[in-house]
Amino acid sequence: SRSMPTYVYDFDQGNKDQKDLLGGKGAGLAEMTNLGLPVPPGFTISTDACRAYLAEGAEPAGLEAEVDEHLHTLEERMGRRLGDPDDPLLVSVRSGAKFSMPGMMETVLDVGLNDRSVVGLAEQSGDDRFAADSYRRLLQMFGTTVLGIDGEAFSDRMDAADELDTEQLRMVVEDFKAIIREHTGHDFPQDPREQLRLAIRAVFSSWNTPRAALYRRQEQIPDDLGTAVNIQAMVFGNRGQTSGSGVAFTRDPATGDQGLYGDYLTDAQGEDVVAGIRNTIAIADLAELDRTSYEELLRIMATLEKHYRDMCDLEFTIEDGHLWMLQTRVGKRTAEAAVRIAADMVDEGLIDEDEALRRVTGDQLVALMFPRFAPDPSRQPVTTGMNASPGAAVGKVALDSDTAVAWAERGDDVILVRKETTPDDLHGMVAARGVLTSRGGKTSHAAVVARGMGRTCVCGAEAIRIDLVNRRFEVRGGPTVEEGDVISIDGGTGEVFVGEVPVSDPDVVRRLEGEDVDDPVADAVERLLERADAVRRLAVRANADTPEDAIRARRFGAAGIGLCRTEHMFLGERRGLVEDLIVAEDDAQKEHALTGLEPLQRSDFIEILTAMDGLPVTVRLIDPPLHEFLPDLTDLAVRVALEDERHDEDERDHLMLAAVRRLHEHNPMLGLRGVRIGLVIPGLFDLQARAIAEATAERIAAGGDPRPEIMVPLVASERELALIRAQLEAVVATVAEEQGVALDIPIGTMIELPRAAVTADRIATVADFFSFGTNDLTQTVWGFSRDDVEAAFFPAYRDQGVFPVSPFESLDVEGVGDLVRTAVRLGRSTKPDLHMGVCGEHGGDPASIHFFDEVGLDYVSCSPFRVPVARWEAARAVL
Ligand code: ADP
Ligand code: MG
Ligand code: MG
Repeated sequence: SRSMPTYVYDFDQGNKDQKDLLGGKGAGLAEMTNLGLPVPPGFTISTDACRAYLAEGAEPAGLEAEVDEHLHTLEERMGRRLGDPDDPLLVSVRSGAKFSMPGMMETVLDVGLNDRSVVGLAEQSGDDRFAADSYRRLLQMFGTTVLGIDGEAFSDRMDAADELDTEQLRMVVEDFKAIIREHTGHDFPQDPREQLRLAIRAVFSSWNTPRAALYRRQEQIPDDLGTAVNIQAMVFGNRGQTSGSGVAFTRDPATGDQGLYGDYLTDAQGEDVVAGIRNTIAIADLAELDRTSYEELLRIMATLEKHYRDMCDLEFTIEDGHLWMLQTRVGKRTAEAAVRIAADMVDEGLIDEDEALRRVTGDQLVALMFPRFAPDPSRQPVTTGMNASPGAAVGKVALDSDTAVAWAERGDDVILVRKETTPDDLHGMVAARGVLTSRGGKTSHAAVVARGMGRTCVCGAEAIRIDLVNRRFEVRGGPTVEEGDVISIDGGTGEVFVGEVPVSDPDVVRRLEGEDVDDPVADAVERLLERADAVRRLAVRANADTPEDAIRARRFGAAGIGLCRTEHMFLGERRGLVEDLIVAEDDAQKEHALTGLEPLQRSDFIEILTAMDGLPVTVRLIDPPLHEFLPDLTDLAVRVALEDERHDEDERDHLMLAAVRRLHEHNPMLGLRGVRIGLVIPGLFDLQARAIAEATAERIAAGGDPRPEIMVPLVASERELALIRAQLEAVVATVAEEQGVALDIPIGTMIELPRAAVTADRIATVADFFSFGTNDLTQTVWGFSRDDVEAAFFPAYRDQGVFPVSPFESLDVEGVGDLVRTAVRLGRSTKPDLHMGVCGEHGGDPASIHFFDEVGLDYVSCSPFRVPVARWEAARAVL
């Protein structure tokens, strides 16, 4: 009888939902075992054990005994003992964390071989070469993974692609043992249980390698999860032509097309198939090699898809005509494939539309909206590889990852071009716009990792020959491309172009804008967006300052404008009038400048109100410090000094210099801005209110349905808003009387200062609506300036875990969010129906949208391009 497990679980004791405990691989092996699929038996050491090991630096008490016990059970089942000299049981020791980290961590195969058991293996299998090859593999994997010897020490001795006979392999085995002795000062451990112990430790420790840590940071995977370790009886794909190893997807992970995809390699074990060592065959061709295994594989794939109700990827091995399943999980996929598969599975009755929405993130929708290469039939690719991860990437060729990083740091766009990538290329892949490889299929390292990161990738472009000595690559039958030359790669078609190819909007964007395009991805997006609109609670508005943006936003489904900035209405040719206003010496001059500006602004507002007819347009009165509209202090001071020296004094320049000096602030973001301008220089706000009111009156007269709202920025106290409100109401009333129309223009405020948030109950007495300005609120709550800190210390803050992402990108729910929550509660305690939205950048950020839904805002407002994403995420927030 076996005691309750603490650290170790047999495959038949777990299931697919236990990824926290068993890791993704262990959970998948357990699930397949319990489905009755052919899985070599084994057991899983839990992540609890790993965390304990990493914390204590030693196996936690009881672990060894539990492993012994489960190993014993495994030996009984297999009728073999680990490393038995006559007929050895061999095992694999496989890492497997909760989230898959392709190739990041370690796996050791063939554990249990030694000088004596290799003889037994040869006798039992009747295949000397196979036994020698397996021992050679163990020494190599153990040497690099467990003992930390540089892989080149082994690969220099033997290229994996070498075709060696048994005798030669035996010599390699001796040499590998010598290499181990030389590098570690010890012999390769002959004791199988010792091998197992060391391999388990190595897997535990691989959680903390720098490349694994980098990958986690990139993918925002927590650092403290640890990995599970799977110990599994070996099956052998390296037993000649009736054996092999493969990886497969139940649908195309790049496009979502139905039908299986994958690669198979005969007489191969483990990573051979993804390492691009020999050329693989497409999984469909397995039908010719081994029809029975092929058909069983198809059946298993169908079982897994039905069971997981999702696209799965899997790893399998055929040993002498017997199919064995070694891994499965819900497969990583491109954004295209995600939305296609979700919509198709709705049609297939596997899931409903809400589940489809749950499965596709707003970030994936963003990826679908990125520009593509503009179609042009006359443009010829120099070669075509596999479409491994979509997107259009243009950049300078970099032939190694360090170069890619260095060039990206100096601001260049780069394309990383490699024969194949390894986990050591991660930093280069992060830095590059796209990745191009000459070997490997859609399941190669480059393809899998690029898809995970949303990087464009073309792989297996076999016509390319990379020449690292001369730093260039040749395209067979085509040009030679030097490192540093610009190329363009299309991850959707696999095409490679020399030079820069222009980009354009993808079909998804064109469909969302109302064009009639024929594209299955666009169909799927449109259909799921319709469902999103039906289920979401939050309204979505856009931040738009121009009629063009307003029109685009409306096509994308915006229910109005949540933030119409007015700063641009004071720029360009209008600067002169603003300067006049500021240097004005008397009311008449001031009046003159204002009357010059008013009609210009009125026509701006008419255009925007026309574009958004029938929908609300929230106009924010002038916000930034006035000096932003004036000449630079230093430039002006120099000019005046020069003029004075030449006795060529310019009176206006002198006045301007005095004004600029007067307005100069050490900390302008905390200075004379927003409502403060309205109180200190009342003419400007009045001018804007008049322009809005007159534009509204004119639209009404023209038969339109204008719905402007006036929003006052940077309010901290009720009194400020009360004063401004009275002033604005008076202007609107005057215009209403002049024009003989009724004007009902709500006046509200931004909540973007901590004081406003905590006195929101009082501010609400004089506000018709609130709009959270989460950019300024973040600046003022954290006390850092968004314009300066990003480069100065955010990278260090992220590295040291102060925050995982910049609080300007994703709302700091704990701090800034708490103030938002407070202000919502206080505001509604005064006015239960007070309308509230958010107009900071966070309005388009998926995680932040979920928070805004939760605290009960009425709408989010974001850039026009983000409107579909916000609609999507607003639905996911309630699902
Ligand atoms: P990764 O997490 O990097 O995919 P795996 O643990 O899946 O690493 O191991 C890599 C490969 O090793 C597998 O795809 C499989 O081909 C091979 N392998 C692992 N365990 C076994 C086993 N018990 N028998 C045969 N091959 C195995
Ligand atoms: Mg695997
Ligand atoms: Mg602001």
